[in-house]
Amino acid sequence: MNKSPWCYLISQGTCNGCELEVFASFTPRYDAERAGMKLVPSPRHADIVLVTGCGTKKGSIQSKRVLEQIPDPKVIIQIGACALNGGIFKCKGPRIEGEIRLEGCPPRPSEIIEAIKKGAKLCSSKR
Ligand code: SF4
Repeated sequence: MNKSPWCYLISQGTCNGCELEVFASFTPRYDAERAGMKLVPSPRHADIVLVTGCGTKKGSIQSKRVLEQIPDPKVIIQIGACALNGGIFKCKGPRIEGEIRLEGCPPRPSEIIEAIKKGAKLCSSKR
């Protein structure tokens, strides 16, 4: 991994299961920060975008606006079945397509950390 991945979470229409696993990744038990990863509150400071949940019509307008604020190069990681294909809700809303797709309902924190590591490598290769 060549750089510290700064992550911003876009949550759009979820049961909150995937968000809890993302936050668990940054707690002392899994400690993503030991690998230099951090969750940032502003999209302008991020280079890795974590997307959870299935999109909704209204939400997609906000999500698009937020995505535009994230500087390039950025890497988008779709987290969980809802973000990938609508999941158990069979939601057919507009989706944010990512370079990295992480299966699971929800995926485990260790898998999320591995996906962020891959995202950081990909992001470095785009620079
Ligand atoms: S993938 Fe599963 S855990 Fe994640 S938001 Fe959808 S239903 Fe919840």
